[in-house]
Amino acid sequence: MSILLHVCCAPCLVFPASVMQGEGREFSCYFYNPNIHPYREFRKRLDTFIEFAGSRGYSYIIDRNYGLKQFLRQVVFNEEARCGLCYRMRLGRTAKIAVENGYSGFTSTLLYSTYQNHALICNQARQAAQRQGVGFVYRDFRTGWQQGIDESISLGLYRQSYCGCIFSEQERYDNRLKKQLRILRKNDVQSRGTSDDKPE
Ligand code: SF4
Repeated sequence: MSILLHVCCAPCLVFPASVMQGEGREFSCYFYNPNIHPYREFRKRLDTFIEFAGSRGYSYIIDRNYGLKQFLRQVVFNEEARCGLCYRMRLGRTAKIAVENGYSGFTSTLLYSTYQNHALICNQARQAAQRQGVGFVYRDFRTGWQQGIDESISLGLYRQSYCGCIFSEQERYDNRLKKQLRILRKNDVQSRGTSDDKPE
């Protein structure tokens, strides 16, 4: 039975696809990423995916809609919790498409990135699987992090420098914001450490 593999971008597909093939599993790719902004960046990642998947002969389903409005309507006033909402959107839709198209289960290239919140992705994927009544095929693709990078570079694939949304783009390039976030995170760790140290 075939697996639906949600794909966030071509470089992140390289290693997970080789794992699926190595296991002898049939799979199709599903490109659905309303979180990628602005439009030219979305097109670039989509075009790179189509080119790479085509060159490998992978079958795929694509959602070509640029999802800026859809994404923002989900995260507005919840910007700090946006990654969980973003995973929920993408994995929820993947599970639904898997059921509608007769796949036995789904997984995601999000499980490849060492920059993503792996536990939160698993959590959202399991919830989506339960809602839709389809299996979540868990693999820790992070084991091939460097291998995937090396191969994507040697193939000359376009490699983006930020996660996808306009918030992550600012976090990548705005040095003042980066500094503020570092301080906030440090304070957060320290306050959690202090409260954990308190006697009950
Ligand atoms: S940082 Fe990445 S995972 Fe988080 S909301 Fe933005 S695009 Fe989604």
